[in-house]
Amino acid sequence: MMEQLLINNNFWDKVDKGGCCWIWTAGVRGGYGGFKVNRKLVDAHRYAFELTKGKIPEGLQIDHLCRNHSCVNPEHLEAVTQRENVLRGYGVCANNSRKTHCKRGHELIGNNLGHEKYSTKRRCKTCDRNNAKIRQRKYRERLRFGGMS
Ligand SMILES: [Zn+2]
Ligand SMILES: [Zn+2]
Repeated sequence: MMEQLLINNNFWDKVDKGGCCWIWTAGVRGGYGGFKVNRKLVDAHRYAFELTKGKIPEGLQIDHLCRNHSCVNPEHLEAVTQRENVLRGYGVCANNSRKTHCKRGHELIGNNLGHEKYSTKRRCKTCDRNNAKIRQRKYRERLRFGGMS
């Protein structure tokens, strides 16, 4: 029991709980966090789940509700079947990375997906282009009317 506790403490020491997602900061394998228990490497998110919610039922996978594979926040972890895992949509964190459409409903994907300078904020290029056109038209109108008076 004592040993178990020590392992647990050690585990959460390697977790950055600064944000909505709790990021596993130690070893990573295959995109997921890896953690050594009794010299066996386990997935950090699976371990976090079992520490807090108990054993993962046979045949189920741990799904990241936040879609962030290095996250070990138990609130974001759920045991689901493989099929559910594939069908799931987007995450629980209110951050930009999960935004799939702009406020006018254009899909933020491929050519239409832009990024703000110096940040990871996602922008809609269609709207950016439209806004630029509107700005240009207003500018030209101002010039025209300004010239007549
Ligand atoms: Zn998360
Ligand atoms: Zn748009």
